Amino acid sequence: MAYSYDSENIFAKILRGEIPNRTVLETAHSLAFHDIRPQRPHHVLVIPKGAYVSYDHFAAEAPEAEIIDYTRTIGKVCRMLGVDLASGGAGFRLISNAGEHGVQEVPHLHMHILGGAGTGRMVNPPGT
Ligand code: 5GP
Repeated sequence: MAYSYDSENIFAKILRGEIPNRTVLETAHSLAFHDIRPQRPHHVLVIPKGAYVSYDHFAAEAPEAEIIDYTRTIGKVCRMLGVDLASGGAGFRLISNAGEHGVQEVPHLHMHILGGAGTGRMVNPPGT
């Protein structure tokens, strides 16, 4: 089955400039901006500019230049936030939710970068 992308999702609107955002970094193929409801002192979302629903969609169909740009942008933002390990930061968590079981709210690929405080266990135990 093919991937289906809804171009009316909120991040598509951000990319079209229809909704404002607090940009952290913009590159040729990616945009990083602050999450509107931060879950940690640092909570930045990184999205590709292309129309991809999820990480698996992106990995399967994006040109290599976009994948490289996206991966490097995530790393750069970690450094900008000072959470990266090379500069002695205390670390971070990357999360990319997909679909129903991933509890994805916005159907445009995004990587959450969370840091500035501990992020707890990776997932809740089943049934909690
Ligand atoms: P998901 O659950 O899809 O992984 O996460 C979607 C994220 O997008 C949530 O953390 C939510 O706070 C954030 N979000 C939803 N709408 C907006 C918006 O209009 N602007 C920004 N900056 N973040 C948003």
